[in-house]
Amino acid sequence: MYDIISADEVCRSAGKAVCVGRNFIAHARELSNPVPDVPVLFTKTPNCFVPLCPSIKLPSVGGPCHHELELVLIVGHPLTAEGYVPGAGMQAMRAVALGLDLTLREVQSELKAQSLPWTRAKCFDGAAPVTDAIRLPLLQSASALADFHMQLNVNGEQRQIGHLSDLIFDVERLIAETVQFMSLAPGDLIFTGTPAGVGPLVSGDVLSLKLWTGDRASDSAVAQLLIDAESRVL
Ligand code: ZN
Repeated sequence: MYDIISADEVCRSAGKAVCVGRNFIAHARELSNPVPDVPVLFTKTPNCFVPLCPSIKLPSVGGPCHHELELVLIVGHPLTAEGYVPGAGMQAMRAVALGLDLTLREVQSELKAQSLPWTRAKCFDGAAPVTDAIRLPLLQSASALADFHMQLNVNGEQRQIGHLSDLIFDVERLIAETVQFMSLAPGDLIFTGTPAGVGPLVSGDVLSLKLWTGDRASDSAVAQLLIDAESRVL
């Protein structure tokens, strides 16, 4: 019923991902971070991008690897500072997916304490698994995402649930901030931030990721299930 872009193609076409830290208030607080005035942006490199399904691998070194469930936008048209029309960012997006911003939390905490870059904690091979993406031709503005919900269950238990209307910086703002200093090319990904509930994954975990619009998850008549993905941690 939806026009799907396979996770393989999403990974192949992505030259980079722009990611935002601390974009849900409850998540900023759970890691004892201040709620920012401007988006905290960082990038992930192509070695990070892998299909989420049917399984993912965690790094063998570096300590606990945390899941961060995020809505991922796939860029459809090039965006540069020159000629950027405020408010037009969403119209340049091609599709949405769900992704995990996998994070070696202890490594990140040590780097943060020393005011060093997070690359070792966030850019290892396979650090950004993504689902198949759905094309949303009618997705013309940030407000179109306001009704989106996402959820991650691990071994049948809810770990993270997020409502896209709760983003501190909406996607239009994220795109505008990014384009000021970094061009976006077709295929690039934007990871829009994780809700509260991040935690470690271990081998054998079964992950269920859902994205829907409307009130409740798939059991509700009013909800429209957009993405329903299962994966296993090897
Ligand atoms: Zn994240």
